[in-house]
Amino acid sequence: MLIGNYSFTLVFISLCVAILASYTALDLTGRIASARGRAVHFWTAGGALAMGVGVWSMHFIGMLAFKLPIDLGYDIAITALSLLIAVLSCGFALWLVSQPKLPIWQLAFGALVMGAGISAMHYTGMAALRMTPGIDYDPTLFGASLLIAVGASAAALGIAFRLRQHSPYVRLIRGGAAVIMGIAIVGMHYTGMAAAQFPDGSFCGASLDGLKGNGLDNLVLITTLAVLSIALLTSILDARLETRTADLAHSLTLANRELTQLALHDTLTGLPNRMLLDDRINQAMKKVEEQGGCFALMFIDLDGFKPVNDAFGHHMGDQLLREVGVRLREDLRSQDTLARIGGDEFVLLVRLSEPDDALGLAARQVGLLGQAFRVAEHDLQISASVGIALYPGNGLSAQELLMNADAAMYHAKGSGKNGYSFFDASMNSNARKQLQLLQDLRAALEHSQFSLYFQPKFDAASGRPVGAEALLRWQHPTQGMLLPDKFIDLAEKTGLIIAIGEWVLNEACRQMREWYVLGYTDWRIAVNLSALQFCHAGLVQSVAKALATHHLPANSLTLEITETTAMSDADASMTVLQELSDMGVDLSIDDFGTGYSSLMYLKRLPANELKIDRGFVRDLEHDSDDAAIVSAIVALGQALGLRIVAEGVETDVQQDFLTQLGCDSLQGYLLGHPMPADRFMQNIARGEAPAAV
Ligand code: C2E
Ligand code: CA
Ligand code: CA
Repeated sequence: MLIGNYSFTLVFISLCVAILASYTALDLTGRIASARGRAVHFWTAGGALAMGVGVWSMHFIGMLAFKLPIDLGYDIAITALSLLIAVLSCGFALWLVSQPKLPIWQLAFGALVMGAGISAMHYTGMAALRMTPGIDYDPTLFGASLLIAVGASAAALGIAFRLRQHSPYVRLIRGGAAVIMGIAIVGMHYTGMAAAQFPDGSFCGASLDGLKGNGLDNLVLITTLAVLSIALLTSILDARLETRTADLAHSLTLANRELTQLALHDTLTGLPNRMLLDDRINQAMKKVEEQGGCFALMFIDLDGFKPVNDAFGHHMGDQLLREVGVRLREDLRSQDTLARIGGDEFVLLVRLSEPDDALGLAARQVGLLGQAFRVAEHDLQISASVGIALYPGNGLSAQELLMNADAAMYHAKGSGKNGYSFFDASMNSNARKQLQLLQDLRAALEHSQFSLYFQPKFDAASGRPVGAEALLRWQHPTQGMLLPDKFIDLAEKTGLIIAIGEWVLNEACRQMREWYVLGYTDWRIAVNLSALQFCHAGLVQSVAKALATHHLPANSLTLEITETTAMSDADASMTVLQELSDMGVDLSIDDFGTGYSSLMYLKRLPANELKIDRGFVRDLEHDSDDAAIVSAIVALGQALGLRIVAEGVETDVQQDFLTQLGCDSLQGYLLGHPMPADRFMQNIARGEAPAAV
C-alpha cells in the first residue's frame, strides 16, 4: 500500500480557507435574509458561488497537500464536476437558511442533502485522480466522513439560520461559528482522505493529461481568496449601506411624525390645534350618534392676558400660556381634548354622562385659572371666561358648536369675566351683530362716514389753549354717531385700523393747517396711534407724508401712544420713536399709570409728554392713593424733563389740585368736550374774547 504524507503548510492553509469560506457564507446569509426582490436571487447565486468555490478549494488544497510516492494529477472535467457539485449544494444550503422558517425536519433534510453534496464533491474530487487500480476506501472511516459531513452541515445550517438577523456581537459570534464550521469541513475531508487506501503499484491516470504541477496550489489559493474577499467585501459594504438606509428610513419616520405633530399641534404649548380639534369634535359627534351620551365644548378665553403680555413681553406671555395649558390639563381625563386655537384662546372638548356635569367642570377650570401663576419670579394674576356649547343641542357641525361656544364666552366676558356661561340662542345675535358691524366698518372709509372731533388742551397755569386732541367718530348709517370704543377694537383685530389711522392722521393735519394759517402756529394737534399702527412698517413714512402734504412743521403734531403699547416691545418701540423724534414730531405717552412701566425704558424713550390716565384724575378727590400717585407721576415727569398733561378733568377741585401739583396742561369735559372743528373754533373764540377785550 502506498503511504501518503501531508504538506502541513497546505493543510493549515486549507483550514484557513475553510474558515474564511464559512465566515463568508454566514455573512451572506444575513444579506439574503434582509434583501428584497431580485436582490435575493443575486445574493443567493453570488453566495453559492463564493461558498462553493471556498469549500471546494479547501478540499482541493487539501488534496494538493497530500503527497504519494507517485506522480499525481487531476482530471480537469471531473475536477470541474466536483466544483459544480460544491456550488450547487452550497446554493441549496443558502436558499434553505434564507427561508422564513427552518423546522427541525427541514433542517435534517437540508443537512442530509448538503452533507451528501459535500461528500459527493469530495469523492468526485478523489475520482479525478483516475487511479488504477481504484482507491480502496476503509468502510468505517468512509462512513465516519459521511456522518461528519452531514453533522457539520446540520450545525452549519442551524448556526447560519440563527445568525442571519442582526444581533449584538454578530461578527464575533459569526467568527466563532465559522471556526467550528471550518474545522468540521476540514475534519470531513481528512477523515475521507484517511479512509482512502492506495494499493501498491497504483497509477494515477490523470497524471499524464490532468491538472498538476507546482504552481497549482498557489493558483487555486489566490483565485479562492479573490473570490471570497470580493464576496465578503461586497457583503460588508452592502450591510453598511443597508444600515445607513435603515438609519435614514428611521429618521424619515421620526421627521414624518414630527411633521404630523407640527401640523396638528400648537408649537407653543404642544396642545392640539384648531385642525385636530375639528377632527376630534367630528369624532365625538359621530360617537354620540352611535352610542348616545353627550359632550361639551368649552371655549376658554383668558381675561387680563394682553396686559401681562404687553407689559412683561412676549416671552413671559408665552410662558404663562404654557402654564395655563398645563394647569387646564391637570383636571382632565386622557380622552378629553384641550386645544389652543388662538392667542389666549383654549377649547376643551369633554365627554359627559350628563349635560349638568359641564357646570362643575367649568367652575373648576375657572377656579384653577383664577389662582395666581408664578412665572419667572412674578406672580401673575389672570382669570378666565368660559363659554359652553353642548352636543346634542347647541349646533349641528363643529363650526357651529365652536361659534356658539365662542358667543357664550363673550357673554361670560360681558357679564363680568372670571366665570362661565352656557350657550343660549339669544347670544348668537351678538355674534351676528359684530359681523354686520365689521361689514359696515369696511365700507365706512369709502363712504366718508368718519369724522374727527377735537377736544381742546389748555395750559394749566394761564388757561390758554395749546392745541387739541383729535378723536375719531363714526357716523353709522343706522346706529348714529358711534364712539371709538364701539369699533376701534374691531378695526384693530381686522387690520382696518391701518387705513383708518392714515385717514385720521391726514385729516388731523389738514385741520391743523387751517388753524396754523389762522395764526395758531404754536398749537399742537394730538393724534392717537393704536398698537397695530405703531408696529406697522409704514408709520414713519405716513407721518412724514401727512406733514409734507399739509405744509406743517413736525412739532405741530403730537402722536399719542399708550404706555402699554410703548412698553410692550420696548426695544422695537425705541427705534420707531427715535425716528419720529428725529423728525421733530412730538411724542406723548397716553394713559400713563395704567400699564407697567420700566423706569429704565421710560428714561430712554424720546417722549416729550406724559398723559396721566383719567382714572387717577377721577378719583383724585376721594382716594388719597390716587392723589399720591398723581403727584408721584408729576414729580417723575418733571425729573425726566417731560410735559405733564392731565386728562379727564371734570371739576374745579381737580383742576386746582392738578395745577398746584405742577401739571403743564389740562384736558377734560370741564374745559371743553370733544367737538367738530367749527364748534371747536366758536368755543375758542368765546374763551379768547375776554382776553381780547
Ligand atoms: P383717549 O386717548 O384716552 O382719549 C380720551 C378719551 O376720554 C376720549 O374718549 C374723550 O372723549 C374722553 N374724555 C375727554 N375728557 C373727558 C372727561 O373729562 N371725562 C371723561 N370721562 N372722559 C373724557 P373717546 O373719544 O371716546 O375715545 C376713546 C378712546 O378711543 C381714546 O382714548 C383713544 O384711545 C381711542 N381713539 C380715539 N380716537 C382715535 C383714533 O383716531 N385712533 C386711534 N387709534 N384711537 C382713537
Ligand atoms: Ca389719547
Ligand atoms: Ca388717554
